[in-house]
Amino acid sequence: MEITELTVHELQEKIKNKELTIKEINEAYIKRIKEKEPDVQAFITELTEQGLEQAQKIQNKIDNGEKLGELAGIPIGIKDMICTKGIKTTAASKMLENFVAPYDATVMEKINAEEMINLGKLNMDEFAMGGSTEYSYFKKTRNPWDLSRVPGGSSGGSAAAVAANMVPWALGTDTGGSIRQPASFCGIVGLKPTYGLVSRYGVIAFASSLDQVGVFTKDVQDCAMLLNVIAGHDEKDTTSVDIGKKDYTKSLQKNIEGLKIGVPKEFYGDGINPEVKESLNNAILQYKEMGAQVEEFSLDIAQYALATYYIIACAEASSNLGRYDGIRYTYRSKEAKSLKEIYKKSRSEAFGAEVKRRIILGTYVLSSGYYDAYYKRAQQVRTLVMNQFNEAFEKYDIIITPTSPTVAFKIGEKSSNPMEMYLSDICTVSINIAGLPGISIPCGVDKEGMPIGMQLVSKRFGEETIIKAAYAYEQKTKFREKYKPTFKK
Ligand code: GLN
Repeated sequence: MEITELTVHELQEKIKNKELTIKEINEAYIKRIKEKEPDVQAFITELTEQGLEQAQKIQNKIDNGEKLGELAGIPIGIKDMICTKGIKTTAASKMLENFVAPYDATVMEKINAEEMINLGKLNMDEFAMGGSTEYSYFKKTRNPWDLSRVPGGSSGGSAAAVAANMVPWALGTDTGGSIRQPASFCGIVGLKPTYGLVSRYGVIAFASSLDQVGVFTKDVQDCAMLLNVIAGHDEKDTTSVDIGKKDYTKSLQKNIEGLKIGVPKEFYGDGINPEVKESLNNAILQYKEMGAQVEEFSLDIAQYALATYYIIACAEASSNLGRYDGIRYTYRSKEAKSLKEIYKKSRSEAFGAEVKRRIILGTYVLSSGYYDAYYKRAQQVRTLVMNQFNEAFEKYDIIITPTSPTVAFKIGEKSSNPMEMYLSDICTVSINIAGLPGISIPCGVDKEGMPIGMQLVSKRFGEETIIKAAYAYEQKTKFREKYKPTFKK
């Protein structure tokens, strides 16, 4: 097996047994980036040279007998939504094309404290608004399973980089599905933690009550390991919650006898592709065979989740993006002749169409005449969504749904129709609205060999249950051993 095909826990084994050095590992990844990046286009900023220097330093420390952490020298990729000190952070927008953050996000500090090596900042939809990574100002990322298709989004660069073995794992952000949907499109594992488990400090804000940082990995064990690194209370983020330190790798257990699984029938309706449904049904049968108790139930409030999400997310985005005024650290129009023109022309020239659409929609739903009819009602529905999920979790440990109604679609297929693009999140947005944790793991492929993802959801701070259920299924079905991206053109 190639070095770059290994998971992080497999790399660690080989480092321990002296079969591989940190230097060899990083060289292998950098070589892989040089080979595959021209096809995949996952990076906004490559950090391969710095990465190699860092690897050499860590190698020297090891050779000098210094005791380092277990993740020292392991490469990682970072979504370009997360601030990195001294390195460009663009949110894939012309607005922040030359922005260099003066500080690290808290999650980045944690990655650095482990001495992991950041090999690059990864592509995404502009300000994380989108579901295909086609709305990046810089480039369109391609799906490693079929280069004519999207990798999903908004964290498409992160998902594609991991699937293409250009990094062993990566960080992303998820506001309405931006980790889970691309993970499902690229046949890897993607976890969005409970709102408040991971600090948002230094993460560019899209919709602050929904945003959460999470992980992309090749398997569930790596997912638990990386979650261990990034989870934890942060004084700098007032929405971060202190639940004490947990070791999520303790949940990597194969026995799920008696696990109670709820299957919400609304998530298996007409809009879901038949092959996706079939694959999910097989996965549910598998869980039954493994000793889980499965029951169908109704989560009918979910039908309002998409509308609610787009009202709340746009309202918050219109406020959050107000800071990009052309005055401070952002793009400034050269044409502008007055203060008003600086605002107007800079924003007109530097925001893409989707971002503008959301700002306009958000401003509208917050305007005095329409606030009650849209924003306030959306908040009320949000409470109902939370209540229905809470009721469900009195009965079930886990809820299983498809991650997305379809497999990865073709580049250009949905980019001109916002509504079509929004529908790609129909299964994921309600989880953010309720602040719950959700994972996507691969559960099969369609006739054309494109991966299908299954979403497992648990109650707030139920990450351990999710990891256990996902791990047991993965160990039984071994997707990674059966299927691999083909880079088909
Ligand atoms: N695709 C959804 C949107 O466009 C979700 C994005 C996200 O999770 N960042 O809003």
